[in-house]
Amino acid sequence: MTEISINFGGGDEMPDVEIRELENVVIVGSGPAGLTAAIYASRANLFPLLVEGYPGGGQLMETTDVENFPGYPEAVKGPDLINDLKQQALRFGTRFLASEIVSFNLNGDVKELTTDMGLKIKTRAVILGTGASARYLGMENETKLKGYGVSACAVCDGFFYRNQHVAVIGGGDSALEDALFLTKHAEKVYIVHRRDEFRASKIMQQRALSNPKVQIVWNSVVDDLVGEPDKDGLTALRLRNTKTDEVTEISVTGMFVAVGHDPNTTLFANQVELDKAGFIKTSDNTSHTNIPGVFACGDVMDPRYKQAITAAGSGCKAALDTEKWLIEMGYE
Ligand code: NAP
Repeated sequence: MTEISINFGGGDEMPDVEIRELENVVIVGSGPAGLTAAIYASRANLFPLLVEGYPGGGQLMETTDVENFPGYPEAVKGPDLINDLKQQALRFGTRFLASEIVSFNLNGDVKELTTDMGLKIKTRAVILGTGASARYLGMENETKLKGYGVSACAVCDGFFYRNQHVAVIGGGDSALEDALFLTKHAEKVYIVHRRDEFRASKIMQQRALSNPKVQIVWNSVVDDLVGEPDKDGLTALRLRNTKTDEVTEISVTGMFVAVGHDPNTTLFANQVELDKAGFIKTSDNTSHTNIPGVFACGDVMDPRYKQAITAAGSGCKAALDTEKWLIEMGYE
């Protein structure tokens, strides 16, 4: 067995976990994909190191009730589900490193990952479960007003909009879930959707459509945002009707963007093969990427299902594929 040692690459602070000179497998990401990979890899005695990222836990940390994760008949809060998975991984010996990887060198037999603390981690295999990040509309005033009325996290910021009027942009499950959450705080919640039909699941549609605080603005996109960060923040949205081009204004102090997510691949995009939309390509229904010893799971490689349970399932596959690959490569 490889000797255990602390291996610093220039950082100031000592991590509170043991880092091996050469790891078997490093899992990057602590959403349901990475954590499930950790449970399976640790039960396979691979003694995995999981680099959590900041703040860790992924999108479920910004979710309220998760009603469709099997095994929780009464629903479970997103952060509680993450904590349960983490406890399960800890129980089997996963080491958690509260750091972020800032550089990946994935080619060659020994992969090298560098953390934000300057720690260099060498490993035979890597499981990428880096997830996806909220997409914004990309407008100048939106950027300017981030934190001053513009948010992509209703659960984090909804509380600040007590008795106010807010808008959610999007027509998927996230948008409707955010809108319903916001009805607990806000007086009125507009859902601004670019089409006349929601993409969200039927049950969420029924809930949103029957909530008296919710007003749907169909066939509409945000044309501009009104407000100044150093004055009152966001005060209104200019909406353009996609059918008539008519521009109207709604008075809102909050705009919650829920228009999907982009996979987090920037740091290894020039090494790992991605599809046209930027998701990691895996081969033949496995978790293998184009680089031997590099595996992917969860939202970073899933343009289609994007569910907590499918992320967890793909994390399981990544750990099993890693275990098999390590054996095939003759590593103990
Ligand atoms: P999504 O399903 O991709 O929906 C994104 C929504 O944003 C769509 O309605 C889309 O409109 C709209 N949109 C995209 N770009 C836009 C733009 N530039 N301007 C205006 N609108 C724009 O994303 P999501 O809601 O984040 O959900 C992602 C996945 O997670 C889905 O599979 C969903 O089922 C799942 N999820 C599940 C739950 C749950 O089960 N509790 C909760 C949240 C998310 P179009 O419809 O016109 O394309």
